[in-house]
Amino acid sequence: MTELPLYGKCVERPSSLALPVMGEFVPRSFAHKRVRECKIGSVTIGGGHPVAIQSMTLTDTRDAKATLEQIHRLEEAGCEIVRVAVPDDEAAAALYEIKKNMRVPLVADIHFHYKLALKAIDAGVDKIRINPGNLGGEGRAKVVTKAAIEAGIAMRVGVNSGSLEKDLIDKYEGPTPMGMVESALRHTRWLEDEGFTNIVVSLKASNVPRMIEAYTLFREQSDYPLHLGVTEAGPIFTGSIKSALGIGFLLQNGIGETMRVSLTADPVEEVKVAWEILKALGLRTKGVNLVACPSCGRCEVDLLDLCARVEKAVAKIDKPLHIAVMGCVVNGPGEAREADLAVVGGKGKGLLMKDGKVVATLPEDELIPALLREAELYDVSMRPSGKVRFVASA
Ligand code: SF4
Repeated sequence: MTELPLYGKCVERPSSLALPVMGEFVPRSFAHKRVRECKIGSVTIGGGHPVAIQSMTLTDTRDAKATLEQIHRLEEAGCEIVRVAVPDDEAAAALYEIKKNMRVPLVADIHFHYKLALKAIDAGVDKIRINPGNLGGEGRAKVVTKAAIEAGIAMRVGVNSGSLEKDLIDKYEGPTPMGMVESALRHTRWLEDEGFTNIVVSLKASNVPRMIEAYTLFREQSDYPLHLGVTEAGPIFTGSIKSALGIGFLLQNGIGETMRVSLTADPVEEVKVAWEILKALGLRTKGVNLVACPSCGRCEVDLLDLCARVEKAVAKIDKPLHIAVMGCVVNGPGEAREADLAVVGGKGKGLLMKDGKVVATLPEDELIPALLREAELYDVSMRPSGKVRFVASA
Protein backbone atom coordinates (compact mmCIF):
# COMPACT_ATOMS: atom_id res chain seq x y z
CA MET A 1 0.00 0.00 0.00
CA THR A 2 2.00 2.91 -1.27
CA GLU A 3 1.51 6.36 0.15
CA LEU A 4 2.49 9.09 -2.24
CA PRO A 5 3.61 12.64 -1.51
CA LEU A 6 1.26 15.40 -0.52
CA TYR A 7 -0.22 17.44 -3.30
CA GLY A 8 -2.11 20.64 -3.83
CA LYS A 9 -1.29 24.19 -3.04
CA CYS A 10 -2.02 25.13 0.54
CA VAL A 11 -4.36 28.05 0.98
CA GLU A 12 -4.11 29.88 4.28
CA ARG A 13 -7.46 30.11 5.94
CA PRO A 14 -8.47 32.33 8.85
CA SER A 15 -9.40 29.54 11.24
CA SER A 16 -6.96 27.23 12.91
CA LEU A 17 -9.07 24.43 11.46
CA ALA A 18 -9.89 23.89 7.84
CA LEU A 19 -13.58 24.35 7.17
CA PRO A 20 -15.22 23.14 4.01
CA VAL A 21 -16.73 25.82 1.87
CA MET A 22 -19.10 24.68 -0.85
CA GLY A 23 -17.52 25.02 -4.25
CA GLU A 24 -14.07 25.77 -2.89
CA PHE A 25 -11.26 23.28 -3.07
CA VAL A 26 -9.68 22.81 0.32
CA PRO A 27 -6.38 20.96 -0.07
CA ARG A 28 -6.60 17.89 2.05
CA SER A 29 -2.94 18.00 2.98
CA PHE A 30 -3.55 21.34 4.66
CA ALA A 31 -6.73 20.44 6.49
CA HIS A 32 -5.74 16.98 7.59
CA LYS A 33 -2.47 17.94 9.27
CA ARG A 34 -4.22 20.25 11.67
CA VAL A 35 -6.16 17.48 13.33
CA ARG A 36 -4.89 15.90 16.54
CA GLU A 37 -3.42 12.45 16.45
CA CYS A 38 -5.14 9.44 17.95
CA LYS A 39 -3.17 6.25 18.43
CA ILE A 40 -5.10 3.01 18.00
CA GLY A 41 -2.59 0.22 18.57
CA SER A 42 -0.26 0.18 15.57
CA VAL A 43 -2.38 2.65 13.59
CA THR A 44 -2.23 6.40 14.13
CA ILE A 45 -4.90 8.64 12.65
CA GLY A 46 -4.97 12.42 12.41
CA GLY A 47 -1.93 14.65 12.23
CA GLY A 48 -1.46 14.02 8.52
CA HIS A 49 -1.55 10.22 8.69
CA PRO A 50 -3.41 8.37 5.94
CA VAL A 51 -7.15 7.90 6.33
CA ALA A 52 -7.56 4.47 7.94
CA ILE A 53 -10.17 1.96 6.83
CA GLN A 54 -12.15 0.01 9.36
CA SER A 55 -14.97 -2.46 9.44
CA MET A 56 -16.94 -4.51 11.92
CA THR A 57 -17.45 -8.25 12.14
CA LEU A 58 -20.91 -9.78 11.76
CA THR A 59 -20.11 -12.95 13.64
CA ASP A 60 -21.08 -13.82 17.18
CA THR A 61 -18.02 -12.56 19.07
CA ARG A 62 -18.40 -15.43 21.53
CA ASP A 63 -17.40 -17.68 18.65
CA ALA A 64 -13.74 -16.67 18.49
CA LYS A 65 -12.95 -19.07 15.63
CA ALA A 66 -15.66 -17.70 13.32
CA THR A 67 -14.83 -14.14 14.31
CA LEU A 68 -11.15 -14.65 13.60
CA GLU A 69 -11.92 -16.18 10.21
CA GLN A 70 -13.86 -13.06 9.30
CA ILE A 71 -11.17 -10.78 10.70
CA HIS A 72 -8.53 -12.52 8.61
CA ARG A 73 -10.65 -12.02 5.47
CA LEU A 74 -11.00 -8.35 6.38
CA GLU A 75 -7.25 -8.01 6.90
CA GLU A 76 -6.65 -9.65 3.55
CA ALA A 77 -8.99 -7.13 1.89
CA GLY A 78 -7.07 -4.18 3.37
CA CYS A 79 -9.02 -3.47 6.54
CA GLU A 80 -6.76 -1.63 8.99
CA ILE A 81 -8.86 -1.59 12.16
CA VAL A 82 -11.51 -4.16 13.11
CA ARG A 83 -14.36 -3.65 15.56
CA VAL A 84 -16.30 -6.41 17.24
CA ALA A 85 -19.48 -6.19 19.30
CA VAL A 86 -19.13 -7.08 22.97
CA PRO A 87 -22.65 -7.71 24.22
CA ASP A 88 -21.90 -9.94 27.22
CA ASP A 89 -19.27 -11.51 29.46
CA GLU A 90 -18.72 -14.47 27.15
CA ALA A 91 -17.97 -12.15 24.24
CA ALA A 92 -15.58 -10.15 26.45
CA ALA A 93 -13.82 -13.39 27.42
CA ALA A 94 -13.39 -14.33 23.74
CA LEU A 95 -11.48 -11.09 23.11
CA TYR A 96 -8.27 -12.57 24.57
CA GLU A 97 -8.20 -15.29 21.94
CA ILE A 98 -9.27 -12.91 19.16
CA LYS A 99 -6.71 -10.24 19.98
CA LYS A 100 -3.90 -12.76 20.18
CA ASN A 101 -4.53 -14.05 16.66
CA MET A 102 -5.07 -10.95 14.57
CA ARG A 103 -2.73 -8.41 12.99
CA VAL A 104 -4.67 -5.14 12.93
CA PRO A 105 -5.88 -3.14 15.95
CA LEU A 106 -8.99 -4.44 17.69
CA VAL A 107 -11.87 -2.26 18.81
CA ALA A 108 -14.52 -3.35 21.29
CA ASP A 109 -18.00 -1.96 20.74
CA ILE A 110 -19.64 -1.44 24.11
CA HIS A 111 -23.10 -0.28 25.00
CA PHE A 112 -24.55 0.25 28.47
CA HIS A 113 -22.32 -2.08 30.48
CA TYR A 114 -19.28 -0.34 31.88
CA LYS A 115 -17.96 -3.61 33.31
CA LEU A 116 -17.77 -5.02 29.79
CA ALA A 117 -15.65 -2.04 28.83
CA LEU A 118 -13.31 -2.84 31.71
CA LYS A 119 -13.13 -6.49 30.67
CA ALA A 120 -12.43 -5.54 27.05
CA ILE A 121 -9.61 -3.25 28.16
CA ASP A 122 -8.24 -6.04 30.29
CA ALA A 123 -8.33 -8.37 27.26
CA GLY A 124 -5.98 -6.02 25.43
CA VAL A 125 -8.19 -4.23 22.91
CA ASP A 126 -6.69 -1.16 21.27
CA LYS A 127 -9.78 1.00 21.42
CA ILE A 128 -13.23 0.94 22.87
CA ARG A 129 -16.21 2.48 21.19
CA ILE A 130 -18.51 3.85 23.80
CA ASN A 131 -21.14 6.41 24.31
CA PRO A 132 -20.17 7.78 27.72
CA GLY A 133 -23.76 8.88 28.11
CA ASN A 134 -25.08 5.33 28.21
CA LEU A 135 -22.50 3.78 30.52
CA GLY A 136 -24.65 4.45 33.58
CA GLY A 137 -23.50 7.85 34.75
CA GLU A 138 -20.42 9.99 35.00
CA GLY A 139 -18.93 7.93 37.83
CA ARG A 140 -18.85 4.77 35.74
CA ALA A 141 -17.55 6.61 32.71
CA LYS A 142 -14.70 7.87 34.92
CA VAL A 143 -13.77 4.35 35.96
CA VAL A 144 -13.62 3.27 32.30
CA THR A 145 -11.59 6.33 31.37
CA LYS A 146 -9.08 5.66 34.11
CA ALA A 147 -8.65 2.08 32.89
CA ALA A 148 -8.24 3.30 29.30
CA ILE A 149 -5.54 5.76 30.37
CA GLU A 150 -3.66 3.06 32.25
CA ALA A 151 -3.89 0.70 29.27
CA GLY A 152 -2.85 3.43 26.81
CA ILE A 153 -5.73 2.72 24.47
CA ALA A 154 -8.02 4.96 22.43
CA MET A 155 -11.70 5.67 22.82
CA ARG A 156 -14.30 6.57 20.24
CA VAL A 157 -17.12 8.79 21.30
CA GLY A 158 -19.80 7.47 19.00
CA VAL A 159 -22.75 9.79 18.59
CA ASN A 160 -25.61 8.45 16.54
CA SER A 161 -28.59 10.54 15.48
CA GLY A 162 -30.86 7.60 16.32
CA SER A 163 -29.78 7.47 19.95
CA LEU A 164 -29.24 11.09 20.85
CA GLU A 165 -29.85 12.06 24.48
CA LYS A 166 -33.40 13.14 25.25
CA ASP A 167 -32.43 16.55 26.61
CA LEU A 168 -30.69 17.37 23.31
CA ILE A 169 -33.62 16.14 21.24
CA ASP A 170 -35.89 18.38 23.31
CA LYS A 171 -33.51 21.32 23.11
CA TYR A 172 -33.07 21.16 19.34
CA GLU A 173 -36.53 19.75 18.57
CA GLY A 174 -35.21 16.56 17.05
CA PRO A 175 -31.95 14.72 16.38
CA THR A 176 -30.36 17.65 14.60
CA PRO A 177 -26.70 18.07 13.60
CA MET A 178 -26.34 20.73 16.30
CA GLY A 179 -27.66 18.36 18.93
CA MET A 180 -25.28 15.64 17.74
CA VAL A 181 -22.34 18.02 17.95
CA GLU A 182 -23.32 19.15 21.44
CA SER A 183 -23.54 15.52 22.53
CA ALA A 184 -20.06 14.78 21.15
CA LEU A 185 -18.55 17.88 22.76
CA ARG A 186 -20.23 17.08 26.07
CA HIS A 187 -18.69 13.64 26.08
CA THR A 188 -15.24 14.67 24.91
CA ARG A 189 -15.22 17.20 27.77
CA TRP A 190 -16.02 14.45 30.25
CA LEU A 191 -13.02 12.53 28.98
CA GLU A 192 -10.80 15.61 28.95
CA ASP A 193 -11.77 16.34 32.55
CA GLU A 194 -10.27 12.96 33.40
CA GLY A 195 -7.12 13.78 31.45
CA PHE A 196 -8.01 11.57 28.48
CA THR A 197 -7.42 12.90 24.98
CA ASN A 198 -6.66 9.83 22.84
CA ILE A 199 -10.10 10.35 21.35
CA VAL A 200 -11.79 9.85 18.01
CA VAL A 201 -15.33 11.06 17.43
CA SER A 202 -18.12 9.92 15.15
CA LEU A 203 -21.40 11.65 14.40
CA LYS A 204 -23.29 9.16 12.31
CA ALA A 205 -26.71 9.49 10.76
CA SER A 206 -28.47 7.54 8.05
CA ASN A 207 -29.47 10.83 6.45
CA VAL A 208 -26.53 11.93 4.31
CA PRO A 209 -26.99 15.73 4.46
CA ARG A 210 -27.47 15.50 8.24
CA MET A 211 -24.29 13.54 8.76
CA ILE A 212 -22.34 15.90 6.50
CA GLU A 213 -23.60 18.86 8.46
CA ALA A 214 -22.88 17.24 11.83
CA TYR A 215 -19.29 16.37 10.95
CA THR A 216 -18.73 19.79 9.39
CA LEU A 217 -20.10 21.62 12.44
CA PHE A 218 -18.02 19.48 14.76
CA ARG A 219 -14.85 20.19 12.80
CA GLU A 220 -15.50 23.91 13.25
CA GLN A 221 -15.36 23.42 17.00
CA SER A 222 -12.92 20.64 17.67
CA ASP A 223 -9.73 19.17 16.27
CA TYR A 224 -10.27 15.61 17.46
CA PRO A 225 -9.93 13.11 14.62
CA LEU A 226 -13.17 11.99 13.05
CA HIS A 227 -14.43 8.52 12.22
CA LEU A 228 -16.72 8.97 9.22
CA GLY A 229 -19.72 6.88 8.38
CA VAL A 230 -23.27 6.89 7.11
CA THR A 231 -25.07 4.60 9.49
CA GLU A 232 -27.64 2.08 8.29
CA ALA A 233 -26.64 2.94 4.73
CA GLY A 234 -28.28 -0.19 3.34
CA PRO A 235 -27.34 -2.96 0.91
CA ILE A 236 -24.31 -2.78 -1.37
CA PHE A 237 -25.74 -0.65 -4.17
CA THR A 238 -27.57 2.06 -2.23
CA GLY A 239 -25.24 1.87 0.74
CA SER A 240 -22.17 2.40 -1.41
CA ILE A 241 -23.71 5.41 -3.11
CA LYS A 242 -24.75 7.02 0.18
CA SER A 243 -21.36 6.32 1.71
CA ALA A 244 -19.45 7.61 -1.30
CA LEU A 245 -21.48 10.80 -1.22
CA GLY A 246 -21.38 11.44 2.53
CA ILE A 247 -17.90 10.20 3.31
CA GLY A 248 -16.49 11.34 -0.02
CA PHE A 249 -17.80 14.87 0.31
CA LEU A 250 -16.27 15.23 3.76
CA LEU A 251 -12.93 13.70 2.79
CA GLN A 252 -12.64 15.91 -0.25
CA ASN A 253 -13.10 18.87 2.07
CA GLY A 254 -10.37 17.73 4.41
CA ILE A 255 -12.63 16.22 7.07
CA GLY A 256 -12.19 12.67 8.31
CA GLU A 257 -9.30 10.58 9.55
CA THR A 258 -10.83 7.10 9.54
CA MET A 259 -13.92 5.62 7.98
CA ARG A 260 -16.30 2.75 7.99
CA VAL A 261 -18.60 2.10 5.08
CA SER A 262 -21.61 0.45 6.73
CA LEU A 263 -23.27 -2.03 4.39
CA THR A 264 -25.85 -4.72 4.86
CA ALA A 265 -23.45 -7.18 3.29
CA ASP A 266 -20.32 -9.21 3.89
CA PRO A 267 -18.02 -6.72 5.68
CA VAL A 268 -15.30 -7.43 3.12
CA GLU A 269 -17.52 -5.46 0.71
CA GLU A 270 -17.31 -2.50 3.11
CA VAL A 271 -13.55 -2.56 2.88
CA LYS A 272 -13.58 -2.80 -0.89
CA VAL A 273 -15.93 0.17 -1.20
CA ALA A 274 -13.89 2.18 1.31
CA TRP A 275 -10.74 1.62 -0.72
CA GLU A 276 -12.49 2.69 -3.90
CA ILE A 277 -13.63 5.91 -2.23
CA LEU A 278 -10.09 6.70 -1.10
CA LYS A 279 -8.62 5.76 -4.47
CA ALA A 280 -11.20 7.81 -6.37
CA LEU A 281 -10.29 10.86 -4.29
CA GLY A 282 -6.60 10.23 -4.73
CA LEU A 283 -6.06 9.90 -0.99
CA ARG A 284 -4.62 6.39 -0.87
CA THR A 285 -3.35 3.88 -3.34
CA LYS A 286 -3.85 0.16 -3.26
CA GLY A 287 -3.62 -2.07 -6.26
CA VAL A 288 -5.14 -1.24 -9.57
CA ASN A 289 -7.29 1.76 -10.30
CA LEU A 290 -9.46 0.46 -13.13
CA VAL A 291 -11.25 2.79 -15.49
CA ALA A 292 -13.42 1.72 -18.39
CA CYS A 293 -15.51 3.46 -20.97
CA PRO A 294 -19.26 2.88 -20.71
CA SER A 295 -19.40 1.39 -24.24
CA CYS A 296 -21.67 2.72 -26.97
CA GLY A 297 -22.82 1.99 -30.51
CA ARG A 298 -19.24 2.15 -31.83
CA CYS A 299 -18.10 -0.74 -29.66
CA GLU A 300 -17.23 -3.93 -31.54
CA VAL A 301 -16.31 -6.05 -28.54
CA ASP A 302 -18.39 -7.38 -25.65
CA LEU A 303 -17.00 -4.67 -23.40
CA LEU A 304 -18.96 -5.62 -20.29
CA ASP A 305 -17.50 -9.11 -20.47
CA LEU A 306 -13.99 -7.86 -21.30
CA CYS A 307 -14.08 -5.36 -18.44
CA ALA A 308 -15.35 -7.97 -15.96
CA ARG A 309 -12.57 -10.33 -17.00
CA VAL A 310 -9.92 -7.63 -16.68
CA GLU A 311 -11.27 -6.61 -13.27
CA LYS A 312 -11.03 -10.19 -12.07
CA ALA A 313 -7.59 -10.71 -13.58
CA VAL A 314 -6.05 -7.61 -11.97
CA ALA A 315 -7.73 -7.98 -8.57
CA LYS A 316 -4.64 -9.49 -6.95
CA ILE A 317 -2.14 -6.95 -8.30
CA ASP A 318 -0.68 -4.86 -5.47
CA LYS A 319 1.04 -2.23 -7.61
CA PRO A 320 -0.80 1.10 -7.80
CA LEU A 321 -1.39 0.82 -11.53
CA HIS A 322 -3.86 2.83 -13.55
CA ILE A 323 -5.42 0.46 -16.10
CA ALA A 324 -8.02 1.42 -18.70
CA VAL A 325 -10.40 -0.79 -20.67
CA MET A 326 -11.80 0.95 -23.73
CA GLY A 327 -14.32 -0.24 -26.26
CA CYS A 328 -13.12 1.03 -29.63
CA VAL A 329 -10.18 2.43 -31.52
CA VAL A 330 -12.07 5.61 -32.40
CA ASN A 331 -11.89 7.21 -28.98
CA GLY A 332 -10.28 4.49 -26.90
CA PRO A 333 -6.59 5.24 -27.46
CA GLY A 334 -7.07 8.92 -26.77
CA GLU A 335 -9.12 8.37 -23.66
CA ALA A 336 -6.65 5.77 -22.38
CA ARG A 337 -3.72 8.17 -22.71
CA GLU A 338 -3.49 8.84 -18.98
CA ALA A 339 -3.44 5.17 -18.05
CA ASP A 340 -0.28 3.21 -17.34
CA LEU A 341 -1.69 0.30 -19.31
CA ALA A 342 -4.78 -0.09 -21.43
CA VAL A 343 -6.60 -2.59 -23.57
CA VAL A 344 -8.68 -1.23 -26.40
CA GLY A 345 -11.23 -3.59 -27.92
CA GLY A 346 -11.88 -4.10 -31.64
CA LYS A 347 -13.47 -6.70 -33.88
CA GLY A 348 -11.90 -9.98 -32.79
CA LYS A 349 -8.69 -8.19 -31.83
CA GLY A 350 -7.54 -5.28 -29.76
CA LEU A 351 -4.72 -2.95 -28.84
CA LEU A 352 -2.45 -3.17 -25.84
CA MET A 353 -1.20 0.24 -24.74
CA LYS A 354 1.47 1.36 -22.34
CA ASP A 355 1.93 4.97 -21.21
CA GLY A 356 -0.41 6.14 -23.96
CA LYS A 357 1.37 4.31 -26.80
CA VAL A 358 0.24 1.21 -28.67
CA VAL A 359 2.68 -1.61 -27.96
CA ALA A 360 0.83 -4.50 -29.63
CA THR A 361 -2.19 -5.47 -31.69
CA LEU A 362 -3.39 -8.85 -30.48
CA PRO A 363 -6.23 -11.34 -30.94
CA GLU A 364 -8.88 -10.68 -28.30
CA ASP A 365 -8.11 -13.83 -26.31
CA GLU A 366 -4.46 -12.76 -25.93
CA LEU A 367 -5.18 -9.28 -24.61
CA ILE A 368 -5.61 -10.08 -20.92
CA PRO A 369 -2.58 -12.41 -20.62
CA ALA A 370 -0.47 -9.74 -22.36
CA LEU A 371 -1.87 -7.04 -20.07
CA LEU A 372 -0.93 -9.11 -17.02
CA ARG A 373 2.61 -9.60 -18.33
CA GLU A 374 3.00 -5.85 -18.85
CA ALA A 375 1.56 -5.17 -15.40
CA GLU A 376 4.14 -7.50 -13.90
CA LEU A 377 6.95 -5.64 -15.66
CA TYR A 378 5.64 -2.10 -15.15
CA ASP A 379 7.85 -0.04 -12.86
CA VAL A 380 5.66 2.63 -11.23
CA SER A 381 8.73 4.54 -10.08
CA MET A 382 9.67 5.08 -13.74
CA ARG A 383 6.34 6.54 -14.86
CA PRO A 384 6.76 9.24 -17.47
CA SER A 385 6.41 12.62 -15.82
CA GLY A 386 3.62 14.98 -16.80
CA LYS A 387 0.87 12.38 -16.81
CA VAL A 388 -2.17 13.27 -14.75
CA ARG A 389 -1.92 10.88 -11.88
CA PHE A 390 -4.85 9.36 -10.08
CA VAL A 391 -2.93 9.14 -6.84
CA ALA A 392 -2.16 12.04 -4.63
CA SER A 393 -1.78 12.75 -0.95
CA ALA A 394 -1.69 10.39 2.00
S1 SF4 B 1 -14.26 4.43 -26.22
FE1 SF4 B 1 -15.40 3.94 -28.08
S2 SF4 B 1 -16.85 2.37 -27.41
FE2 SF4 B 1 -16.13 3.36 -25.57
S3 SF4 B 1 -17.66 4.94 -25.17
FE3 SF4 B 1 -15.95 5.90 -26.29
S4 SF4 B 1 -16.61 5.77 -28.44
FE4 SF4 B 1 -17.91 4.34 -27.34
